[in-house]
Amino acid sequence: CGVFGIWGHENPAQITYYGLHALQHRGQEGAGIITTDGRNLNGIKGEGLVNEVFDENKLKSLKGKAAIGHVRYATAGGGGVENVQPLLFRSTTGSLAVAHNGNIVNANHLKHHLERKGSIFQTTSDTEVLAHLMKQSGNGPMKERAKSALSILKGAFAYLVLTEDALFVALDPNGLRPLSIGQLGDAWVVASETCAFDIIGAEFVRSVEPGEFLIINDKGIQTDRYTPKAERAICALEYVYFSRPDSDIDGINIHSARKRLGKQLAKEVIVEADVVTGVPDSSISAAIGFSEESGIPYELGLIKNRYVGRTFIQPTQELRERGVKMKLSPVRSVVNGKRVVMVDDSIVRGTTSRRIVTMLKEAGAKEVHVVISSPPMKNPCFYGIDVSTDSELIASGNEIEEIRQLIGADSLTFLSEEGMKNAIGRPDDNETRGLCMACFTGNYPTEIYPDTVMPHEK
Ligand code: 5GP
Ligand code: SF4
Ligand code: MG
Repeated sequence: CGVFGIWGHENPAQITYYGLHALQHRGQEGAGIITTDGRNLNGIKGEGLVNEVFDENKLKSLKGKAAIGHVRYATAGGGGVENVQPLLFRSTTGSLAVAHNGNIVNANHLKHHLERKGSIFQTTSDTEVLAHLMKQSGNGPMKERAKSALSILKGAFAYLVLTEDALFVALDPNGLRPLSIGQLGDAWVVASETCAFDIIGAEFVRSVEPGEFLIINDKGIQTDRYTPKAERAICALEYVYFSRPDSDIDGINIHSARKRLGKQLAKEVIVEADVVTGVPDSSISAAIGFSEESGIPYELGLIKNRYVGRTFIQPTQELRERGVKMKLSPVRSVVNGKRVVMVDDSIVRGTTSRRIVTMLKEAGAKEVHVVISSPPMKNPCFYGIDVSTDSELIASGNEIEEIRQLIGADSLTFLSEEGMKNAIGRPDDNETRGLCMACFTGNYPTEIYPDTVMPHEK
């Protein structure tokens, strides 16, 4: 998912619309914006893309001085407009709206507890738990209630909470998801990715710290903590796949990181080939890096139809297969009679690689060598990036040679874990270099609860 927030602007809904548009790649299932005018919260949300949910009149109807917005990442099963965020909770003692990127691993545990105390949940989303915890934690000031509620949550969360008179911003103790603060004139903005600042002309100020709690209101911005900082563990896949190439995370540009991943891969594999091609869009940077390092020319061997969305984010396998076919086409004159290196950023179920190898061979490629700019994904993600169940992960039950056969490639190479850490090149000096790599290594940075609801089970 992607979140965006702004405080202190005369057109907060319009700005949020542009911000969400830049974050569209983080979720295409639904979008929503909620504004405050200092007295009331008002919002519009719906299923679909940002430009399908909103039009000029709708944006104009959302008046106020601040807003939060959300784009929802589709996960199988749990659709429905009631799960589209921000979620709005009206109350005579203070209303609030919440937008969340991540996954709360103890949400089910907390839900049972809250239901015994009288909560009735509106949605099947883990996001809602925070609002109920805030409501049930007494009558103190909202910011104290928010801090105490946040301190009970486990997992991954970049949270925006909008009340009538303040915007709260919080990041989980490990900083699993990215979140940045910027300034647009006198207004404060916050977004999952810095590309949202560029589109609205805002200046990047800094990243939100793990465990940090920010209060933004008419008096300005104030920093606080709801919990001590834990070991930094930002999702490695944000660098590898998820974020936009023009975004920076903690000062590291995503495109440049991907190029280094590709270069590192070229150092780790020996392959004789005529052309290197990347799978658009997310693997182009890595393919350029691979070509630079190996000296094998980069070519546009695959074209993407830009009117098809991200195929991974489709609820069923059949839709995903059809999606890949509609989305990618080989450039016959580039690959015909050639030995082709195909760079992709990851193999999850193997759908994409299998289809593309077949496609390239049908277009006349003599050999197809698949190189992947991340290690084999063997474990499920509990933190809000939907990398399926164990059984769906092709690398969880198969050795590399078996995967090679299943996708029909002439050779298959994955990047090493060390190579990935070094290529991303975060400044952290702990064992994992500040990254979560749990889907590769199985070392989860947080506790995992037996009743953790996986994102795709919602
Ligand atoms: P597969 O087709 O093997 O199931 O998934 C791999 C393809 O989906 C790659 O081309 C990659 O760009 C994309 N992808 C890989 N990992 C993820 C992920 O965690 N989330 C999403 N949305 N897409 C992914
Ligand atoms: Fe990212 Fe993998 Fe960690 Fe999930 S398990 S947060 S996808 S690195
Ligand atoms: Mg891809």
